[in-house]
Amino acid sequence: MRFGAHVSSSGGISNAIDRGQTIGCESLQVFTHNPRTWRPINHTSEQIAAFREKAAAAGMGPMVSHGLYLMNLGAPDAEVPTGPPGKRTMRNIYRSSVETLQQHLRIGEALGLTGVVLHVGSSKGSTTDESIARIGAGIAEALDAVPGTCAIHLENTAGAGDTIGRSFEELRAVADAAGHEERVGFCLDTQHLFASGFPVHEEGGIDRVLAAFDQIVGLHRLRTLHLNDSMTEFGSNRDRHENIGEGLIGEDGFRRILGHPALQGLPVILEVPGEAGEGPDLINMERARRLHAEGLALRG
Ligand SMILES: [Zn+2]
Ligand SMILES: [Zn+2]
Repeated sequence: MRFGAHVSSSGGISNAIDRGQTIGCESLQVFTHNPRTWRPINHTSEQIAAFREKAAAAGMGPMVSHGLYLMNLGAPDAEVPTGPPGKRTMRNIYRSSVETLQQHLRIGEALGLTGVVLHVGSSKGSTTDESIARIGAGIAEALDAVPGTCAIHLENTAGAGDTIGRSFEELRAVADAAGHEERVGFCLDTQHLFASGFPVHEEGGIDRVLAAFDQIVGLHRLRTLHLNDSMTEFGSNRDRHENIGEGLIGEDGFRRILGHPALQGLPVILEVPGEAGEGPDLINMERARRLHAEGLALRG
C-alpha cells in the first residue's frame, strides 16, 4: 500500500508535495481547481515543473486529483438558474461539467497524475438510466478531447438523495456507458461504503464486499482507496468523514480492511478531519500504517 492524503495546494500546486512529505505521504491527492468556483486556476509552467520535480525527488506516487464538487455529469443538458439567491445566473451544468473535466485531465497530464477521482453525479429529475447514459457520454467526450494516460476514477457515493454510484451495478453501468476501459477505473471510499450499507467493518465483511465488487466491476479496475472512518451510522447514506479509528468503522474495522490482500497494491488516500480539524495529519497517517501492519499480521 502507498499511504497518502488529500493535501492543500494553496499558494501554488507544488506546495502540495511539501505538505504531503511533512505528514509522511507516499501517495497524494490534490485539488487542481478552486473548490468554490467553476473558473479554472491558471497553474504557471514554473509551478507545474516544480510539482513534477519535487514529486520525483520525493518518490511521491501514485498521485491523483479530486474532481471539482460542482461538476455533475448526471445533470440535464439544459440551462438552469444557478448560484445563491440574488446572484442567480443561467448555466448548463452538464456542459460546464464536461468542460471542467477536460481541464482536470489536461492539468492532470501536465502534473503527471494517474487519475482524476470523480463523483459520478446525480440525476436531478432525470431517470437513472438517462443520467447514466449522459454521464458515460460526457466522460467519453472529455477523454477523447484529452489524449494521454491520466484516467478517471469513478468514486462510489455515500448514497444521499439522487446520487448515482451507490451500488456496484451503477458504477459498472457508468463505466460501460463511458467505454475507454483503459482510462476508466474506480475509487472506493470506506466511509461511503459503510454509509451506503456495505458491511466493510464486520468480520469477513470487506472480503464479501470486495468479492461482489470483483464479480460486478472487476478488482483489476480498482485504482484508488479512500480511507476514512465514519461519523455517521451504518447505512445512514450520509457523507461524514471521521479520523481513522475514531468513528464507527473503528480500529477493528480498519484492521480487517487494510489486511485484505486485494488492496495491497493501491494508493490509500486519507480525507479525514485531522486531530486539529485542519485535515489529514501525521497522527492519522501513523495510525493507518499501524492498523495496516496489524491487519496483515491478523491474516497471517
Ligand atoms: Zn470524493
Ligand atoms: Zn466522502
